[in-house]
Amino acid sequence: MTIDWNNLGFDYIKTPWRFLAKWQNGAWNDGELTEDNVLHISESSPALHYGQQCFEGLKAYGRKDGGVNLFRPDENSKRLNRSADRLRMPQVPEELFLKAVNEVVKANRAFVPPYGTGATLYIRPLLIGVGDVIGVKPANEFIFTVFCMPVGPYFKGGLAPTNFIVSDYDRAAPNGTGAAKVGGNYAASLLPGEEAHKKNFSDCIYLDPETHTKIEEVGSANFFGITKDNEFITPKSPSILPSITKYSLLHLAEHTLGLKAIEGDVYLNELDKFVEAGACGTAAVISPIGGIQTHDEFHVFYSETEVGPVTKKLYNELVGIQYGDRPAPEGWIFDVE
Ligand SMILES: *Cc1c(COP(=O)(O)O)cnc(C)c1O
Repeated sequence: MTIDWNNLGFDYIKTPWRFLAKWQNGAWNDGELTEDNVLHISESSPALHYGQQCFEGLKAYGRKDGGVNLFRPDENSKRLNRSADRLRMPQVPEELFLKAVNEVVKANRAFVPPYGTGATLYIRPLLIGVGDVIGVKPANEFIFTVFCMPVGPYFKGGLAPTNFIVSDYDRAAPNGTGAAKVGGNYAASLLPGEEAHKKNFSDCIYLDPETHTKIEEVGSANFFGITKDNEFITPKSPSILPSITKYSLLHLAEHTLGLKAIEGDVYLNELDKFVEAGACGTAAVISPIGGIQTHDEFHVFYSETEVGPVTKKLYNELVGIQYGDRPAPEGWIFDVE
């Protein structure tokens, strides 16, 4: 397979190797690399019927010196285990998680996009409940698998703002599974996402499910805004998916850019206080938000065509760290040995 590194999208590509471990009789086996990309599971697997599954998403970055970086994979491991707790699945020990990710990257080393292409190797860990269970109860067997594929940069032509529309749908309930990275939240987001695309918006904005007055998520990314008083503000809510990118930006905003970093309420009727806004996540990295269509108005932040200076600085800082071009806070970068 020859890959045109400069023209990759976000599409499934079957790379040669994946890692698969099984949980049976109350314990994980060692797991191993396999070339088989088809899962053989019972038709009654709870993952299929009752959504007992969770996943993660992280990237490997090809460095200038030819090495490969992972960005905070230990945080993905911790979050997978919080999702697993919420859905009554066994935790995957951090050691097993990191071993699986490392082995998959190394085995598919030829598929890590070279430095300078803007492309990355996207890594997808997945935990599913399987086995012969038809009643509504947790599975008695589980599969943990990690696979990967090269993906292109989110913005082919460089960082560019896009527009979003506030949705009347909720992706999660106030005390539901919004903070867990589970497929059910995504199933609920397909229809609202499609409706937003049909109206030519990048995606929809989800409001807090309790009062529908505050911004929670931007599609499948977290929201941040920059105020004219040099504050970096991102919503705080138990139904938001705690983005590792978001927490990294909170840190960088405060310690590198000297902004005041705040997790708090972002009311829809107070958008005026932001001079810039963006969405953040592993896939989206930082996506500047041009404008937001609410019920009453189309609100433009910095510009519909230009990227604001603070957003650009945050982007350069984050991506520089991920590719190893800039010094990282301690523990953020894992060198794939
Ligand atoms: C994964 C995800 C994010 C982004 O999290 P990162 O750790 O930054 O990749 C944001 N929102 C939702 C709903 C997600 O599933």
